[in-house]
This record gives sequence, C-alpha cells and structure tokens, in this order.
Amino acid sequence: MIRIAKSDNKPLSLTATNAYDGEDVKRQLLLDQQCKCYLCERKVSTDFQIDHLKSKQNHPESKTEWTNLLLSCSYCNPKKGNRFDGILNPIDNDIEDIIEQRINYASKAVVFKSNEESQEVQETISLLETIFNGGGVLKRVREEKFFEEIEAVMNRFNQLIDAYRYNPSKFTEEAVREELSIDKEMLGFKYWIIKKDEVLSQVFANDIIWNKTA
Ligand SMILES: [Zn+2]
Repeated sequence: MIRIAKSDNKPLSLTATNAYDGEDVKRQLLLDQQCKCYLCERKVSTDFQIDHLKSKQNHPESKTEWTNLLLSCSYCNPKKGNRFDGILNPIDNDIEDIIEQRINYASKAVVFKSNEESQEVQETISLLETIFNGGGVLKRVREEKFFEEIEAVMNRFNQLIDAYRYNPSKFTEEAVREELSIDKEMLGFKYWIIKKDEVLSQVFANDIIWNKTA
C-alpha cells in the first residue's frame, strides 16, 4: 500500500447527482490509481469496486465526497467492509514509509510493521493483515490464490534485483527501474526491498519517491 496522488478534478456526477458510482467517477479513479487497487496494489480489470474510505454505512454524510472514494478490487473491498473506518488516508499519508511491507516466503505470510503506534496505523496494519494473510492461520482457496499472485510478482522483481546485483549494467538497472514505475503492481513491497539495501537504496533513490509532493 502506498500514497495515492488523487486528482483535484472532482467528477461532475458527484455534485450533479446523489450517486457516487457515476461513469466519470470510475474513469477518474482508474486514471488516478493507474488501474490498481489501493489496498493490495494489484491491477484491476473489470473487477474494480468503489471503496469508501469511511464506510457509507457508518458515514453516510461522506458517501459522495470525492476524497472519500478510492478504487479497490473485489477481493479487498469486502474484507474491509465497514470494520476499518479509521485507517490511514492514503491521499494524505506516505504509507510506504510509515508501514514496512515484506513477504516472508518461508512461512508464506506477509509482514507489516511500523514504529508508529497511533490507532490509525495499527488499524491499517490490521486491515492489511486481514487482506494479505487471510486473518487466520489456515488460508482458504481464494487466499491461497491471492498469495500465489503476489508471490509471482515479487519473485519476478527479486530475479531482476539479483540480475542487477550479479551484473550492474545499464540494462539490468533499467529493468529494475521499469518495475518501480507507478503503473506497476506491489510497489509498497518493492520499495522496502530497495530501502533495506544500502547499495540499491542509493541507485534507485529517485524511483521510490514518485508520489511525494515536495
Ligand atoms: Zn485489492
């Protein structure tokens, strides 16, 4: 999960109608988020849903608020439901810096950590754990499929990193850089692989700060 650079371009249907799911809203969300779910950072095709950061059940007053709407996938959206209304707002927070995101391949689990103990951070971690680890010890079929998907993306990235380490050429460097571009999946996890490594964090320093405003 990373920061989202949301367009100020508020879709007209939000003010002209009482609906939050107009075609212009969907189009703008897909554009702003490069067709990625803001929670799992996988690409969505036709399975996208409009997520209310603060759920419409608990916060009906924010139902058509543009800054309350985010694009998510049909896997993550129901897992969030109306139980995680107090998570960090990815429009205002550098989630990729606040929460460490790492895969433990041996235990087939995803690890989220933060030095910050605020309620918002802890709730965000709790939601991410529900999404990525299935919320229990045993994964069900869908959770297993989900994990296999993210594992495949990260394996590919790790191979490119290994290729760069083995032979740090322009070509291998560009191959890694390409995987860090904003339209690519799982950037939160990729950023932390870079950040944790002294050499990589220097070479790719500018490739992991795309969304900072300053
Ligand atoms: Zn998702």
